[in-house]
Amino acid sequence: MNRHKLLNILIFVGLVTGFAVGAYLFRTSGGDDESIGWLAAAGDLILIRPLKMLIIPLVFVSVVVGITSIGDPSRLGLVGGTTLVYYFATMIIAVVIGTAIVRGVQPGKGLNLNDDVEAQQTIKAEYESTFDEEKRKELDKRQQEGLGGAWMNIARQIVPTNVIAEAAAGNPLPVIAFAILFGLSLGFLGDQAKPVVTFMNGLFDAVMTMVQWVIWLTPIGVFLLIAWSVGKLGAVDTITSLGKYMGCVLVGLLIHALVVLPTILFLFGRANPFKFMWRMRPALLTAFGTDSSSATLPVTMETAETDGECSKRASGFVLPLGSTINMDGTALYEAVAVVFLFQAFGIHLEFEQLLIVVLTATLAAVGAAGIPSAGLVTMVIVIHAVNTSLAGTGVENLELYAIGFIIGVDRILDMCRTTVNVWGDAVGARIITRIAPDTEASAAAPSRGAGL
Ligand code: ASP
Repeated sequence: MNRHKLLNILIFVGLVTGFAVGAYLFRTSGGDDESIGWLAAAGDLILIRPLKMLIIPLVFVSVVVGITSIGDPSRLGLVGGTTLVYYFATMIIAVVIGTAIVRGVQPGKGLNLNDDVEAQQTIKAEYESTFDEEKRKELDKRQQEGLGGAWMNIARQIVPTNVIAEAAAGNPLPVIAFAILFGLSLGFLGDQAKPVVTFMNGLFDAVMTMVQWVIWLTPIGVFLLIAWSVGKLGAVDTITSLGKYMGCVLVGLLIHALVVLPTILFLFGRANPFKFMWRMRPALLTAFGTDSSSATLPVTMETAETDGECSKRASGFVLPLGSTINMDGTALYEAVAVVFLFQAFGIHLEFEQLLIVVLTATLAAVGAAGIPSAGLVTMVIVIHAVNTSLAGTGVENLELYAIGFIIGVDRILDMCRTTVNVWGDAVGARIITRIAPDTEASAAAPSRGAGL
């Protein structure tokens, strides 16, 4: 049995046993953090921290090497343009699916939380226990800054002033922006920059070797994190009233992941989507376990470039960028969650407001970092935009604390939407492989690049 097969089997075993142990804890421990919190702490130490350690170096070198290996500026323009069109088109489709489902099913209808003072107090308490005062202030600030603030936030990340500080803070987007410029300048310098390009290729190989080591921690990490997530659900008492809402998110995610993205891959990538999905399973299962597209990035890149048969050129560019801005699952989730909350608080949304949801949920997903529960936070942008459009209509606004209603089940939904986020990135890399294949020479060589 080769190493890849063995790893795949071990990750799968981690997933299944994680579920089984989680289900047992769910019934026995009541899901309180004191008894099962150690699972999350161990999973963090064993898998998430080592993966996180690799993110910034990997993002930087892979984007530089990706850009220098594509080389030719017109090819670069085509790859960059197609990638962005792919990201935005798939996110918009995801949001439209989510909005249509939540509008049709109306999972929040009849809950009438606006008339239920006791429920409101519980929801507020949940909100306040999840977000401490500082975080709540930040959420209020984000809400006040509204759409303009959200755009500015993304723009500032794309034009950083101190890329070292951004890297030290673990922000991938400013590092990617810098790496794109750096890669372009190496290409511009041509022969003069060859030693640097060779050095970057060596650096890339070294980081990927570290990734290959860390990947062997995935089975145990996935086991611990899934056991914790499933066990924790025992503490959620609102789960029954949220069943329909969760169903809407999950059905939407399934349609997007199993119908929309495979169709796009088949049409534009000329690949067998389900075979590709099967081959990408180490990355998909890691996303499911870690709840973070950024932490999964090292595994996504390794799997895409080996079993997934994506070109190194395409994945070096599409995957790092995708892990921070291309979030189909998050976009879909934000739309369903916001419309659901408005329904649950008895606030009727017209077509115009649903359109606002579609547009702002896409923006909110782009702005969400690839970390656990980021979508829950950027949701305030969507709520604010809808509230603003309701101004003057006499209809009440939705208070921010309403988010507290869905916090309890966020982890499990986050696992699913993160998997779809990573799947969307992988499909993008496979499609872009068609316009940026590795030449035979570079595919055979131990390192890539040198295509200047
Ligand atoms: N956890 C998601 C990710 O890392 C982001 C989110 O929707 O919260 O992709």
